[in-house]
Amino acid sequence: MPVRVRIPTPLRPYADGRAEIAASGETVAGVLAALVDGSPALRSHLLGDDGRLRSFVNLYLNGEDVRSRAGLETSLSDGDVLAIVPAIAGGADRPGTGVSPPHTAGDLSKEEIARYSRHLIMPEVTIEGQRRLKRSSVLLVGAGGLGSPAALYLTAAGVGRVGIVDFDVVDESNLQRQILHDTSWVGRPKLESAKARLSGLNPHVRIETHAAALTRENALEVMKDYDVVVDGTDNFETRYLTNDACYLLKKPNVYGSIFRFEGQASVFWPDRGPCYRCLYPEPPPPGLVPSCAEGGVLGILPGVVGGIQATETIKILLGIGEPLVGRLLLYDALAMSFDELKLRRDPSCPLCGSAPTITELQDYTTFCGTGRGEEAGPVEEITAGELKRRLDHGESLELIDVREPHEWAICRIAGARLMPLGTLAERLHEFDSSRTYVLHCKSGARSAKAVGVLRGAGFRRLLNLRGGVLAWAREVDPSLPTY
Ligand code: ZN
Repeated sequence: MPVRVRIPTPLRPYADGRAEIAASGETVAGVLAALVDGSPALRSHLLGDDGRLRSFVNLYLNGEDVRSRAGLETSLSDGDVLAIVPAIAGGADRPGTGVSPPHTAGDLSKEEIARYSRHLIMPEVTIEGQRRLKRSSVLLVGAGGLGSPAALYLTAAGVGRVGIVDFDVVDESNLQRQILHDTSWVGRPKLESAKARLSGLNPHVRIETHAAALTRENALEVMKDYDVVVDGTDNFETRYLTNDACYLLKKPNVYGSIFRFEGQASVFWPDRGPCYRCLYPEPPPPGLVPSCAEGGVLGILPGVVGGIQATETIKILLGIGEPLVGRLLLYDALAMSFDELKLRRDPSCPLCGSAPTITELQDYTTFCGTGRGEEAGPVEEITAGELKRRLDHGESLELIDVREPHEWAICRIAGARLMPLGTLAERLHEFDSSRTYVLHCKSGARSAKAVGVLRGAGFRRLLNLRGGVLAWAREVDPSLPTY
Protein backbone atom coordinates (compact mmCIF):
# COMPACT_ATOMS: atom_id res chain seq x y z
CA MET A 1 0.00 0.00 0.00
CA PRO A 2 1.48 3.39 -0.90
CA VAL A 3 1.24 5.79 2.03
CA ARG A 4 2.59 9.28 2.69
CA VAL A 5 5.15 9.52 5.46
CA ARG A 6 5.55 12.93 7.09
CA ILE A 7 9.15 13.69 8.04
CA PRO A 8 9.60 16.13 10.97
CA THR A 9 11.98 19.06 10.72
CA PRO A 10 14.81 17.53 12.83
CA LEU A 11 14.94 14.44 10.61
CA ARG A 12 14.74 16.15 7.22
CA PRO A 13 18.51 16.55 6.87
CA TYR A 14 18.63 12.72 6.82
CA ALA A 15 15.95 12.51 4.13
CA ASP A 16 17.41 14.88 1.54
CA GLY A 17 15.48 17.74 3.11
CA ARG A 18 12.11 16.27 2.20
CA ALA A 19 9.01 16.92 4.33
CA GLU A 20 7.05 14.00 2.93
CA ILE A 21 8.06 10.72 1.38
CA ALA A 22 5.87 8.14 -0.33
CA ALA A 23 6.57 4.58 0.83
CA SER A 24 4.81 1.25 0.42
CA GLY A 25 4.05 -1.55 2.84
CA GLU A 26 1.21 -3.67 4.17
CA THR A 27 1.91 -2.66 7.77
CA VAL A 28 3.56 0.25 9.62
CA ALA A 29 6.67 -1.90 10.07
CA GLY A 30 6.74 -2.60 6.34
CA VAL A 31 6.53 1.09 5.48
CA LEU A 32 9.31 1.92 7.95
CA ALA A 33 11.52 -0.71 6.36
CA ALA A 34 10.82 0.72 2.90
CA LEU A 35 11.46 4.23 4.22
CA VAL A 36 14.90 3.48 5.68
CA ASP A 37 15.82 1.48 2.59
CA GLY A 38 15.16 4.55 0.50
CA SER A 39 16.79 6.96 2.98
CA PRO A 40 19.47 4.94 4.82
CA ALA A 41 20.60 7.98 6.83
CA LEU A 42 17.24 7.91 8.63
CA ARG A 43 17.77 4.39 9.96
CA SER A 44 19.81 5.17 13.06
CA HIS A 45 17.45 8.01 13.97
CA LEU A 46 14.35 5.85 13.81
CA LEU A 47 15.50 2.37 14.70
CA GLY A 48 17.83 0.96 17.36
CA ASP A 49 20.55 -1.62 16.71
CA ASP A 50 17.99 -4.33 17.37
CA GLY A 51 15.81 -2.95 14.58
CA ARG A 52 13.10 -1.76 16.96
CA LEU A 53 11.57 1.69 16.86
CA ARG A 54 13.44 4.08 19.14
CA SER A 55 11.47 4.98 22.24
CA PHE A 56 11.57 8.74 21.63
CA VAL A 57 9.90 8.38 18.25
CA ASN A 58 6.12 8.19 18.02
CA LEU A 59 4.17 7.24 14.96
CA TYR A 60 0.73 8.57 14.13
CA LEU A 61 -1.45 7.01 11.48
CA ASN A 62 -3.98 9.56 10.17
CA GLY A 63 -3.56 11.47 13.41
CA GLU A 64 -3.89 8.47 15.71
CA ASP A 65 -1.07 6.96 17.75
CA VAL A 66 -0.26 3.53 16.29
CA ARG A 67 0.24 2.21 19.85
CA SER A 68 -3.51 2.55 20.30
CA ARG A 69 -3.92 0.35 17.21
CA ALA A 70 -1.79 -2.71 16.56
CA GLY A 71 1.54 -0.88 16.91
CA LEU A 72 4.01 -1.68 14.15
CA GLU A 73 1.71 -4.44 12.95
CA THR A 74 -1.09 -1.99 12.17
CA SER A 75 -2.20 -2.61 8.63
CA LEU A 76 -2.41 0.23 6.15
CA SER A 77 -4.76 1.41 3.46
CA ASP A 78 -4.11 3.32 0.31
CA GLY A 79 -3.68 7.06 0.95
CA ASP A 80 -2.93 6.76 4.68
CA VAL A 81 -0.70 9.40 6.22
CA LEU A 82 1.96 8.24 8.66
CA ALA A 83 3.51 11.02 10.73
CA ILE A 84 6.82 10.59 12.53
CA VAL A 85 6.83 12.67 15.71
CA PRO A 86 10.08 12.56 17.69
CA ALA A 87 10.56 14.25 21.04
CA ILE A 88 11.93 17.79 20.56
CA ALA A 89 14.17 19.35 23.20
CA GLY A 90 13.18 22.99 22.57
CA GLY A 91 14.17 25.65 25.06
CA ALA A 92 17.32 24.01 26.41
CA ASP A 93 20.67 25.59 25.76
CA ARG A 94 23.34 23.30 24.39
CA PRO A 95 26.54 25.29 24.29
CA GLY A 96 28.91 24.39 21.53
CA THR A 97 26.27 23.38 19.00
CA GLY A 98 25.45 25.36 15.93
CA VAL A 99 27.68 27.26 13.58
CA SER A 100 29.75 30.31 14.32
CA PRO A 101 28.41 33.31 12.45
CA PRO A 102 30.88 34.77 10.00
CA HIS A 103 32.72 37.92 11.00
CA THR A 104 31.51 39.75 7.94
CA ALA A 105 27.95 40.24 9.08
CA GLY A 106 27.12 43.19 6.86
CA ASP A 107 24.60 45.37 8.60
CA LEU A 108 24.28 43.25 11.75
CA SER A 109 26.44 44.44 14.63
CA LYS A 110 28.33 42.10 16.95
CA GLU A 111 25.63 42.69 19.58
CA GLU A 112 22.89 41.82 17.12
CA ILE A 113 24.63 38.63 16.08
CA ALA A 114 24.82 37.55 19.71
CA ARG A 115 21.18 38.52 20.29
CA TYR A 116 19.81 36.64 17.29
CA SER A 117 22.05 33.57 17.53
CA ARG A 118 19.11 31.14 17.84
CA HIS A 119 17.83 32.44 14.53
CA LEU A 120 21.18 32.44 12.79
CA ILE A 121 21.83 28.75 13.35
CA MET A 122 18.56 27.71 11.73
CA PRO A 123 19.03 26.94 8.03
CA GLU A 124 15.59 28.48 7.32
CA VAL A 125 16.73 31.84 8.71
CA THR A 126 20.53 32.23 8.79
CA ILE A 127 22.29 35.56 8.87
CA GLU A 128 20.76 36.41 5.48
CA GLY A 129 17.24 35.96 6.86
CA GLN A 130 18.10 38.03 9.90
CA ARG A 131 19.35 40.82 7.68
CA ARG A 132 16.12 40.56 5.74
CA LEU A 133 14.13 40.98 8.96
CA LYS A 134 16.19 44.02 9.79
CA ARG A 135 15.39 45.56 6.40
CA SER A 136 11.67 44.83 6.94
CA SER A 137 8.87 46.81 8.51
CA VAL A 138 5.53 45.93 10.07
CA LEU A 139 2.58 48.12 11.00
CA LEU A 140 0.42 47.05 13.92
CA VAL A 141 -3.11 48.41 13.90
CA GLY A 142 -3.86 48.66 17.61
CA ALA A 143 -1.67 48.21 20.69
CA GLY A 144 -4.24 46.18 22.58
CA GLY A 145 -4.74 42.47 23.22
CA LEU A 146 -3.54 41.16 19.86
CA GLY A 147 -1.08 43.97 19.22
CA SER A 148 0.69 43.33 22.53
CA PRO A 149 2.15 39.86 21.92
CA ALA A 150 2.60 40.57 18.21
CA ALA A 151 4.59 43.76 18.93
CA LEU A 152 6.70 42.06 21.59
CA TYR A 153 7.65 39.07 19.45
CA LEU A 154 8.22 41.04 16.26
CA THR A 155 10.44 43.48 18.12
CA ALA A 156 12.31 40.68 19.87
CA ALA A 157 12.79 38.93 16.53
CA GLY A 158 14.58 41.95 15.08
CA VAL A 159 12.13 43.37 12.52
CA GLY A 160 13.83 46.65 11.56
CA ARG A 161 10.87 49.01 11.93
CA VAL A 162 7.76 48.35 13.99
CA GLY A 163 4.97 50.91 13.58
CA ILE A 164 1.94 51.13 15.83
CA VAL A 165 -1.32 53.04 15.27
CA ASP A 166 -3.32 53.68 18.42
CA PHE A 167 -4.98 56.59 20.19
CA ASP A 168 -6.15 54.93 23.41
CA VAL A 169 -4.89 55.30 26.95
CA VAL A 170 -4.03 52.37 29.21
CA ASP A 171 -7.01 51.38 31.34
CA GLU A 172 -6.82 49.13 34.39
CA SER A 173 -9.11 46.62 32.66
CA ASN A 174 -6.58 46.27 29.79
CA LEU A 175 -3.89 44.77 31.99
CA GLN A 176 -5.50 41.33 32.19
CA ARG A 177 -4.36 40.67 28.62
CA GLN A 178 -2.52 43.63 27.05
CA ILE A 179 0.93 42.60 28.19
CA LEU A 180 2.71 45.50 26.50
CA HIS A 181 1.51 47.77 29.27
CA ASP A 182 2.07 47.63 33.00
CA THR A 183 0.35 49.06 36.03
CA SER A 184 2.44 52.21 36.22
CA TRP A 185 1.13 53.30 32.78
CA VAL A 186 -2.58 53.35 33.66
CA GLY A 187 -4.13 56.59 32.38
CA ARG A 188 -1.29 57.34 29.96
CA PRO A 189 -1.18 56.80 26.18
CA LYS A 190 -0.72 53.19 25.06
CA LEU A 191 1.71 54.35 22.39
CA GLU A 192 4.10 55.81 24.96
CA SER A 193 3.89 52.71 27.10
CA ALA A 194 4.46 50.50 24.04
CA LYS A 195 7.43 52.53 22.88
CA ALA A 196 9.11 52.39 26.29
CA ARG A 197 8.59 48.65 26.64
CA LEU A 198 9.63 47.72 23.09
CA SER A 199 12.69 49.98 23.04
CA GLY A 200 13.79 48.37 26.29
CA LEU A 201 13.25 44.92 24.84
CA ASN A 202 15.27 45.57 21.69
CA PRO A 203 17.10 48.87 21.18
CA HIS A 204 18.11 47.77 17.65
CA VAL A 205 14.51 48.15 16.44
CA ARG A 206 13.00 51.47 15.38
CA ILE A 207 9.61 51.91 17.02
CA GLU A 208 7.37 54.31 15.09
CA THR A 209 4.18 55.61 16.68
CA HIS A 210 1.12 56.99 14.92
CA ALA A 211 -1.11 58.67 17.48
CA ALA A 212 -4.44 58.60 15.68
CA ALA A 213 -7.43 56.48 14.94
CA LEU A 214 -7.02 54.85 11.54
CA THR A 215 -9.45 56.60 9.16
CA ARG A 216 -10.20 56.65 5.46
CA GLU A 217 -8.32 59.94 5.32
CA ASN A 218 -5.04 58.73 6.86
CA ALA A 219 -4.97 54.93 6.35
CA LEU A 220 -3.16 54.80 3.02
CA GLU A 221 -0.60 57.37 4.10
CA VAL A 222 0.11 55.58 7.41
CA MET A 223 0.36 52.11 5.84
CA LYS A 224 2.20 52.81 2.63
CA ASP A 225 5.74 52.55 4.00
CA TYR A 226 5.34 49.16 5.71
CA ASP A 227 5.81 45.68 4.28
CA VAL A 228 3.11 43.88 6.29
CA VAL A 229 0.09 45.06 8.26
CA VAL A 230 -1.07 43.21 11.38
CA ASP A 231 -4.78 43.70 12.07
CA GLY A 232 -5.29 43.80 15.82
CA THR A 233 -8.46 45.89 15.77
CA ASP A 234 -11.46 45.39 17.98
CA ASN A 235 -14.18 46.82 15.73
CA PHE A 236 -15.63 46.15 12.30
CA GLU A 237 -15.12 49.66 10.95
CA THR A 238 -11.35 49.51 11.34
CA ARG A 239 -11.28 45.88 10.21
CA TYR A 240 -12.90 46.65 6.85
CA LEU A 241 -10.83 49.81 6.51
CA THR A 242 -7.61 47.84 7.15
CA ASN A 243 -8.67 45.16 4.68
CA ASP A 244 -9.50 47.64 1.92
CA ALA A 245 -6.41 49.78 2.45
CA CYS A 246 -4.15 46.69 2.40
CA TYR A 247 -5.78 45.50 -0.80
CA LEU A 248 -5.42 48.88 -2.52
CA LEU A 249 -1.75 49.05 -1.44
CA LYS A 250 -1.18 45.32 -2.26
CA LYS A 251 0.15 44.56 1.21
CA PRO A 252 -0.35 41.32 3.15
CA ASN A 253 -2.87 41.77 5.96
CA VAL A 254 -2.34 39.40 8.89
CA TYR A 255 -5.75 39.05 10.47
CA GLY A 256 -6.66 37.94 13.98
CA SER A 257 -9.78 38.23 16.08
CA ILE A 258 -10.77 37.07 19.53
CA PHE A 259 -13.90 36.64 21.55
CA ARG A 260 -14.35 34.96 24.93
CA PHE A 261 -12.57 31.61 24.40
CA GLU A 262 -12.33 31.58 20.62
CA GLY A 263 -9.99 33.06 18.10
CA GLN A 264 -9.58 33.30 14.34
CA ALA A 265 -6.56 33.98 12.19
CA SER A 266 -5.83 34.22 8.50
CA VAL A 267 -3.62 36.04 6.02
CA PHE A 268 -5.30 38.18 3.39
CA TRP A 269 -2.67 38.65 0.74
CA PRO A 270 -3.79 40.61 -2.32
CA ASP A 271 -3.61 38.66 -5.59
CA ARG A 272 -2.60 35.48 -3.74
CA GLY A 273 -5.84 34.65 -1.96
CA PRO A 274 -9.16 35.98 -0.72
CA CYS A 275 -9.68 39.14 1.29
CA TYR A 276 -11.74 39.75 4.43
CA ARG A 277 -14.70 40.85 2.30
CA CYS A 278 -14.64 37.49 0.48
CA LEU A 279 -14.99 35.88 3.91
CA TYR A 280 -17.53 38.32 5.33
CA PRO A 281 -19.09 40.51 2.61
CA GLU A 282 -20.95 42.53 5.22
CA PRO A 283 -20.49 43.24 8.91
CA PRO A 284 -23.11 41.94 11.32
CA PRO A 285 -25.73 44.53 12.25
CA PRO A 286 -24.60 46.66 15.18
CA GLY A 287 -25.47 44.99 18.46
CA LEU A 288 -25.70 41.43 17.16
CA VAL A 289 -22.10 40.51 17.89
CA PRO A 290 -20.94 41.78 21.27
CA SER A 291 -17.49 43.28 21.57
CA CYS A 292 -14.87 41.97 24.02
CA ALA A 293 -15.74 44.90 26.28
CA GLU A 294 -19.30 43.60 26.42
CA GLY A 295 -18.85 39.84 26.14
CA GLY A 296 -15.47 39.40 27.80
CA VAL A 297 -12.32 37.66 26.64
CA LEU A 298 -10.01 35.16 28.28
CA GLY A 299 -6.83 37.09 29.04
CA ILE A 300 -4.54 34.46 27.53
CA LEU A 301 -6.50 34.14 24.28
CA PRO A 302 -4.89 37.13 22.50
CA GLY A 303 -1.50 35.67 23.52
CA VAL A 304 -2.19 32.64 21.34
CA VAL A 305 -3.85 34.47 18.44
CA GLY A 306 -1.44 37.45 18.48
CA GLY A 307 1.42 34.93 18.60
CA ILE A 308 0.02 33.24 15.49
CA GLN A 309 -0.16 36.63 13.77
CA ALA A 310 3.47 37.36 14.68
CA THR A 311 4.48 33.92 13.37
CA GLU A 312 2.74 34.48 10.06
CA THR A 313 4.32 37.93 9.76
CA ILE A 314 7.84 36.56 10.30
CA LYS A 315 7.19 33.79 7.75
CA ILE A 316 6.01 36.34 5.18
CA LEU A 317 9.03 38.56 5.78
CA LEU A 318 11.44 35.63 5.52
CA GLY A 319 9.59 34.04 2.61
CA ILE A 320 9.44 30.64 4.32
CA GLY A 321 6.74 28.08 5.07
CA GLU A 322 3.10 28.06 4.10
CA PRO A 323 1.29 31.27 5.01
CA LEU A 324 -2.33 31.13 6.17
CA VAL A 325 -3.49 32.39 2.78
CA GLY A 326 -6.86 30.99 1.77
CA ARG A 327 -7.24 29.32 5.15
CA LEU A 328 -9.16 30.42 8.22
CA LEU A 329 -7.68 29.03 11.41
CA LEU A 330 -10.18 28.59 14.23
CA TYR A 331 -8.90 28.21 17.76
CA ASP A 332 -11.09 27.04 20.62
CA ALA A 333 -9.32 27.41 23.97
CA LEU A 334 -11.92 25.46 25.96
CA ALA A 335 -11.78 22.44 23.66
CA MET A 336 -8.09 23.19 22.99
CA SER A 337 -8.61 22.53 19.32
CA PHE A 338 -7.48 24.13 16.10
CA ASP A 339 -9.65 23.77 13.01
CA GLU A 340 -9.00 25.00 9.55
CA LEU A 341 -11.49 26.11 6.93
CA LYS A 342 -10.68 26.64 3.28
CA LEU A 343 -11.35 30.15 2.07
CA ARG A 344 -11.92 30.92 -1.56
CA ARG A 345 -11.67 34.17 -3.39
CA ASP A 346 -15.17 35.38 -4.22
CA PRO A 347 -15.31 36.35 -7.92
CA SER A 348 -18.10 38.77 -7.05
CA CYS A 349 -16.17 40.38 -4.16
CA PRO A 350 -16.66 44.15 -4.53
CA LEU A 351 -12.99 44.70 -3.63
CA CYS A 352 -10.89 41.86 -5.03
CA GLY A 353 -13.41 40.24 -7.41
CA SER A 354 -13.41 40.34 -11.19
CA ALA A 355 -15.54 43.50 -11.43
CA PRO A 356 -14.62 45.51 -8.36
CA THR A 357 -16.84 48.41 -7.31
CA ILE A 358 -14.60 49.49 -4.44
CA THR A 359 -11.61 51.33 -5.85
CA GLU A 360 -11.01 53.75 -3.01
CA LEU A 361 -11.60 53.81 0.72
CA GLN A 362 -15.25 54.05 1.85
CA ASP A 363 -17.36 55.55 4.58
CA TYR A 364 -17.02 52.70 7.08
CA THR A 365 -19.30 54.20 9.70
CA THR A 366 -22.23 54.03 7.27
CA PHE A 367 -21.17 50.64 5.90
CA CYS A 368 -21.03 49.14 9.39
CA GLY A 369 -24.19 50.92 10.49
CA THR A 370 -22.43 52.13 13.59
CA GLY A 371 -23.70 55.69 13.26
CA ARG A 372 -26.67 56.66 15.37
CA GLY A 373 -30.03 55.67 13.88
CA GLU A 374 -30.94 59.05 12.35
CA GLU A 375 -34.57 58.34 11.58
CA ALA A 376 -35.26 57.50 15.20
CA GLY A 377 -33.37 60.54 16.47
CA PRO A 378 -30.44 60.38 18.85
CA VAL A 379 -30.70 58.35 22.02
CA GLU A 380 -31.55 60.69 24.87
CA GLU A 381 -28.95 60.49 27.59
CA ILE A 382 -28.82 61.35 31.26
CA THR A 383 -25.65 61.83 33.29
CA ALA A 384 -25.06 60.02 36.57
CA GLY A 385 -25.14 63.30 38.50
CA GLU A 386 -28.44 64.36 36.91
CA LEU A 387 -29.98 60.95 37.61
CA LYS A 388 -28.97 61.14 41.26
CA ARG A 389 -30.44 64.64 41.55
CA ARG A 390 -33.76 63.59 40.02
CA LEU A 391 -33.99 60.47 42.16
CA ASP A 392 -33.26 62.55 45.26
CA HIS A 393 -36.13 64.85 44.25
CA GLY A 394 -38.41 61.83 44.41
CA GLU A 395 -38.98 61.58 40.69
CA SER A 396 -40.40 58.22 39.69
CA LEU A 397 -37.79 56.74 37.34
CA GLU A 398 -37.52 53.02 36.62
CA LEU A 399 -33.90 51.87 36.55
CA ILE A 400 -33.30 48.95 34.21
CA ASP A 401 -29.90 47.29 34.23
CA VAL A 402 -29.35 45.40 30.94
CA ARG A 403 -26.07 43.73 31.91
CA GLU A 404 -25.57 40.01 32.56
CA PRO A 405 -26.22 38.43 35.99
CA HIS A 406 -22.50 37.87 36.69
CA GLU A 407 -21.86 41.59 36.15
CA TRP A 408 -24.84 42.47 38.31
CA ALA A 409 -23.26 40.36 41.05
CA ILE A 410 -20.17 42.59 41.04
CA CYS A 411 -21.95 45.92 41.46
CA ARG A 412 -25.32 47.54 40.84
CA ILE A 413 -27.19 50.78 41.36
CA ALA A 414 -29.56 50.52 44.32
CA GLY A 415 -33.19 50.21 43.19
CA ALA A 416 -32.36 48.95 39.70
CA ARG A 417 -33.96 45.92 38.09
CA LEU A 418 -31.90 43.37 36.14
CA MET A 419 -33.10 42.63 32.60
CA PRO A 420 -30.20 41.40 30.42
CA LEU A 421 -30.24 42.89 26.91
CA GLY A 422 -30.81 39.52 25.28
CA THR A 423 -33.99 38.90 27.29
CA LEU A 424 -35.53 42.31 26.67
CA ALA A 425 -37.49 41.44 23.55
CA GLU A 426 -39.34 38.68 25.44
CA ARG A 427 -40.10 40.86 28.44
CA LEU A 428 -41.70 43.84 26.72
CA HIS A 429 -44.96 43.09 28.55
CA GLU A 430 -43.23 44.09 31.80
CA PHE A 431 -42.86 47.66 30.52
CA ASP A 432 -45.44 50.40 30.92
CA SER A 433 -45.49 53.12 28.26
CA SER A 434 -46.62 55.75 30.78
CA ARG A 435 -43.49 55.38 32.87
CA THR A 436 -39.97 56.72 32.30
CA TYR A 437 -37.15 54.20 32.09
CA VAL A 438 -33.45 54.78 32.65
CA LEU A 439 -31.53 52.06 30.86
CA HIS A 440 -27.99 51.37 31.91
CA CYS A 441 -25.18 48.86 31.45
CA LYS A 442 -21.46 48.91 32.17
CA SER A 443 -20.51 51.92 30.09
CA GLY A 444 -23.52 52.87 27.96
CA ALA A 445 -23.19 50.89 24.70
CA ARG A 446 -25.52 47.98 25.42
CA SER A 447 -28.09 50.20 27.07
CA ALA A 448 -28.16 52.36 23.92
CA LYS A 449 -29.09 49.19 22.05
CA ALA A 450 -31.70 48.42 24.69
CA VAL A 451 -33.22 51.86 24.05
CA GLY A 452 -33.38 50.87 20.37
CA VAL A 453 -35.20 47.62 21.20
CA LEU A 454 -37.76 49.41 23.36
CA ARG A 455 -38.24 52.18 20.80
CA GLY A 456 -38.87 49.56 18.17
CA ALA A 457 -41.67 48.26 20.39
CA GLY A 458 -43.18 51.73 20.63
CA PHE A 459 -41.87 52.96 24.00
CA ARG A 460 -40.80 56.61 24.03
CA ARG A 461 -39.96 57.69 27.59
CA LEU A 462 -36.46 56.25 27.59
CA LEU A 463 -33.17 57.61 28.89
CA ASN A 464 -29.73 56.08 28.51
CA LEU A 465 -27.37 56.51 31.47
CA ARG A 466 -24.24 58.02 29.93
CA GLY A 467 -21.14 56.08 30.97
CA GLY A 468 -23.23 53.37 32.67
CA VAL A 469 -22.55 51.90 36.08
CA LEU A 470 -18.93 52.99 35.78
CA ALA A 471 -19.98 56.65 35.59
CA TRP A 472 -22.33 56.15 38.55
CA ALA A 473 -19.48 54.66 40.58
CA ARG A 474 -17.16 57.49 39.58
CA GLU A 475 -19.49 60.43 40.06
CA VAL A 476 -22.08 59.34 42.62
CA ASP A 477 -21.08 56.30 44.64
CA PRO A 478 -17.29 55.73 44.77
CA SER A 479 -17.86 52.87 47.22
CA LEU A 480 -19.10 50.66 44.35
CA PRO A 481 -16.54 48.16 43.07
CA THR A 482 -15.91 48.46 39.30
CA TYR A 483 -14.60 46.05 36.72
ZN1 ZN B 1 -12.30 39.87 -1.64
